[in-house]
Amino acid sequence: MAGPDYIVDIDGLKPPVSQQADRVSLRGRPWLAVQWKCCSAYSRIYRNKAGTMYEGRCPKCGKPVSAKVGPGGTSKRFFEAT
Ligand SMILES: [Zn+2]
Repeated sequence: MAGPDYIVDIDGLKPPVSQQADRVSLRGRPWLAVQWKCCSAYSRIYRNKAGTMYEGRCPKCGKPVSAKVGPGGTSKRFFEAT
């Protein structure tokens, strides 16, 4: 039914370009769901700007994790950080 073709942008309602860029950078980016074994926490990590890796940090202890994109990387949507 309603696919992307049905989304209509109304110019007058758009935020200024600078704000828009900020929002899109996180909203439009692909993400992985991460289960943090270190803290029994759960969060998302986002693809980096180059589009080569998913990168993020544990929301509780700040431990970094990264996951490769593409051949040889993971195709799972859920990722376990140990
Ligand atoms: Zn942690």
